[in-house]
Amino acid sequence: MSPSSAVLGIDLGGTKARSVLLVGGEVRWARTDPTGRALDPERATNLVLEVLAEAAAHAGPAGVASVGVGVPGPVRPGTGVVRSSVILDGWDEVPFASMLSGRTGLAVGVDNDVNHAARAEWWVRGGAGGEGPDLLFVGIGTGVGGALVLDGRVRAGAGGMAGEIGHVAGGEPAERCDCGRRGCISVSVGGRSLERRLRLAPGGLSAAVAAGGTAADLLAEGARRLGAVVADALHLLDLPLVVLGGGVAEAPGFVDGVREGVRANALAEVRDACTVEPAAAGYDAAAVGAALHGTGAERR
Ligand SMILES: [Zn+2]
Repeated sequence: MSPSSAVLGIDLGGTKARSVLLVGGEVRWARTDPTGRALDPERATNLVLEVLAEAAAHAGPAGVASVGVGVPGPVRPGTGVVRSSVILDGWDEVPFASMLSGRTGLAVGVDNDVNHAARAEWWVRGGAGGEGPDLLFVGIGTGVGGALVLDGRVRAGAGGMAGEIGHVAGGEPAERCDCGRRGCISVSVGGRSLERRLRLAPGGLSAAVAAGGTAADLLAEGARRLGAVVADALHLLDLPLVVLGGGVAEAPGFVDGVREGVRANALAEVRDACTVEPAAAGYDAAAVGAALHGTGAERR
């Protein structure tokens, strides 16, 4: 992951697409486009072509060297094939990287948006200087995603699930997860799951937590439960850093609640060797990570 030329990253989300052009590792140009469920592979391809045409005008004489794309769904490891998406319609085993490469004539990388956010965290925490830390990234938003960076690479695992801490047991045992099983940690901290349990409208969690009461108590309990799950991840992996990103992680006291759960449950050897931190890569994290991935410098 060491782009010196102009590289484009595009994060395709359920409400917006955020694009950044990195030149020498710095954001030189950015753009935001509205999206929605109807952003199927055909529409997404047209959007990428439009963004690329505009970015090229800012890329200097050598032009855009590569394109990286983030999608809200699982991607087959090393292939750029999007398996599915619950956020966008029409994505069923779509070979999106090869489709885009054929239309643009450029090297194109496609990966899950949470993996890209983890890449960006690694980059801002020393990766840009060649010294990024091993880390577990946990993205807590509507659902819970995770990604594992080891030796400067996001590890996909044999089935593409490495780092997906949201489906580790440790949540409220009686509650059913979107995956069909009961008691995954995501039922205790994921926004959609908490909104369902609290009978709130979609998107209503942060206001309810700010108002205090049951919502705040439930999220505080969830944060401590997540801390216990992180403690077990540390027992397994002994990592120096765990990063908490996503909208739910920004709730007051959430990061401290996770830290408390880690302190109460982890053995001293791993607890003392690890810090738990809020995300630092900011608003553009997934788009920046996509741009880094598109360089092809990172291989499984
Ligand atoms: Zn699950």
